Amino acid sequence: MERRNQRIVIIGGGFAGIYTALGLERQMPDTEFEVLLINRKNFFLYYPILPEVCSGGVEPRHVLVPLRDLFSRCRLLDAEVLDIDFETRQVFVKHGNTRETGEFTYDQLVIAAGADANLELVPGVARHAFTFRTLEDAVTLRNQLGDLLEDAELEEDPLRRRELLTFVVVGGGSTGVEVLSEVESFLRGILPKYRVRREELHFVLLDLAPQILAEVGPELGQYALEQLRGRGIDVMLGTSTQEVFPDHVALSDGREIRTRTVIWTIGLAPPALLGKLDLPKDAKGYLRPDPTMRLPGIAAPGGNVWALGDCARIASPDGKTFPPTAQHAVRQGKQLAKNILAVSRGEQPTPYCFEPIGTLVSIGGNKGVASIRGRHVRGWLAWAMWRGLHLVLMPSRDRRIRILIDWILSAFLPRDTAQLVMKPKPAEERRPEGKPKISFLREERIQAHVPRNEQP
Ligand SMILES: Cc1cc2nc3c(=O)[nH]c(=O)nc-3n(C[C@H](O)[C@H](O)[C@H](O)COP(=O)(O)OP(=O)(O)OC[C@H]3O[C@@H](n4cnc5c(N)ncnc54)[C@H](O)[C@@H]3O)c2cc1C
Repeated sequence: MERRNQRIVIIGGGFAGIYTALGLERQMPDTEFEVLLINRKNFFLYYPILPEVCSGGVEPRHVLVPLRDLFSRCRLLDAEVLDIDFETRQVFVKHGNTRETGEFTYDQLVIAAGADANLELVPGVARHAFTFRTLEDAVTLRNQLGDLLEDAELEEDPLRRRELLTFVVVGGGSTGVEVLSEVESFLRGILPKYRVRREELHFVLLDLAPQILAEVGPELGQYALEQLRGRGIDVMLGTSTQEVFPDHVALSDGREIRTRTVIWTIGLAPPALLGKLDLPKDAKGYLRPDPTMRLPGIAAPGGNVWALGDCARIASPDGKTFPPTAQHAVRQGKQLAKNILAVSRGEQPTPYCFEPIGTLVSIGGNKGVASIRGRHVRGWLAWAMWRGLHLVLMPSRDRRIRILIDWILSAFLPRDTAQLVMKPKPAEERRPEGKPKISFLREERIQAHVPRNEQP
């Protein structure tokens, strides 16, 4: 019987998934291996620049890298993984366009499905708050900002005007501060086009902690706090959110803030797929692989199953787990590619370990804070370093050029108030009945599959 290549299936085309696939593509001879990357969208989203989409500083498409531009040999599938059977080594999927379902077998499986926003922390968040984890979230938020200025133009009642023009961000971490800064910069930039006065805009940043930006330390956190307050932003520390309503947010100290815009930037939850999988997990439902990123207990007959990135909690040498950041997801992906290769050669995989280089945060007003290997930089230089670093780390030359041009143009041209509102017809209504697209791999597999115990 014809011998087939080993198939490595990667679930998730985020930081962890693409760097695993890129590492495999570079190191593995394609005469022996076939890599299949399954992602529910046909692009990779570069999260750190996403806040600039809601200010219009960067065009929405420019923070997305088409997966087909990144790979030459890796096979790609735009599909949602619905379930996995570890006994038969099958992954069940639903195609992104045709909605047709199918299944593939694997020899090695990589789970890199990221994390979702946790909408259960406080009542009302799921229904009334704006989350910030997808491109749709960024575009929806930008549309909301434009809508509210349009409404405020017509509103005569001062209290209702105040409600429309108050913007609350929950979370004083880097995402919260960067989103708030971009919202502020966008609104202040488009204000001259509306009959709304600058002093009518009210920005609030809420956090339970006694300081903001804990990730860069107290000194830089204090600097960032002073900068935000200096720009008139109301930073309320030691304050938690009790409940979110359509027209106000209730705080733990009994106060309420009248607002139509609560932007929720805190809390992660395991991706929905993990709920269906009988695998080792921690109390919150994240996967618990060993330090080499392999999930224990299913090496045989289920093949090797690996987990990394935001969906996994990998033990660090200090007895904790590595935090869910892109810095770690990228390094884990690179290490995992080496580990998969080692295991397939009968060698031992290496435990993951990485000491982060530092943290950079853009705090608005062309300023930033950076803590790099214990050294602190702040102000314009840190902001320039932030931009330079993300240009370098963006894994596509095409996108680097487009983002650079966006940044140059947005420094000279006025902010764009046009809204991107898209309500596409569902794919099923647009497509004639036809041959299911998903069969391409399944058929090959059926023809080529040789059970493990029958392999030469
Ligand atoms: C606004 C924002 C800014 C950030 N800025 C920074 C920063 O500056 N520095 C930093 O280090 N970190 C940053 N982070 C965190 C960082 O983006 C994450 O830690 C990183 O994306 C984790 O990578 P991942 O591959 O595990 O997950 P992701 O990048 O989220 O990728 C997971 C992928 O899996 C796909 N997927 C999930 N379930 C399925 C399924 N069932 N079927 C098919 N596909 C599926 C998803 O669609 C997604 O494409 C930021 C996060 C946000 C939200």
